[in-house]
Amino acid sequence: MKPTDIRDPEYFHKVVDCQYACPAHTPVPEYIRLIAAGKYTEAYLINWESNVFPGVLGRTCDRPCEPACRRGRVEEEPVAICRLKRVAADFKDDINQRLDTRSTF
Ligand code: SF4
Repeated sequence: MKPTDIRDPEYFHKVVDCQYACPAHTPVPEYIRLIAAGKYTEAYLINWESNVFPGVLGRTCDRPCEPACRRGRVEEEPVAICRLKRVAADFKDDINQRLDTRSTF
């Protein structure tokens, strides 16, 4: 059996609707899981991997991920994915040291 190629965004189309709907294919479930655990800095850095302005996007993104959210199929409102991105950005610790080790520029 061929291993699943998760670099291919089409993979997410089948399993993670919100991640597929996001133009940057941000790993939404992963950063929400980290926020639920109170790990705001880690959640921010997960976002940072797919778009370097999580705090800005958390305030300005058109959030195509939210209409794709499965929660919206069973409840009135989808998960507030975009606002949670903002929460991670607003509550993160100082990340300067951590960015140095991650930067690929
Ligand atoms: S808020 Fe925007 S950038 Fe963030 S996951 Fe949704 S679509 Fe992607």
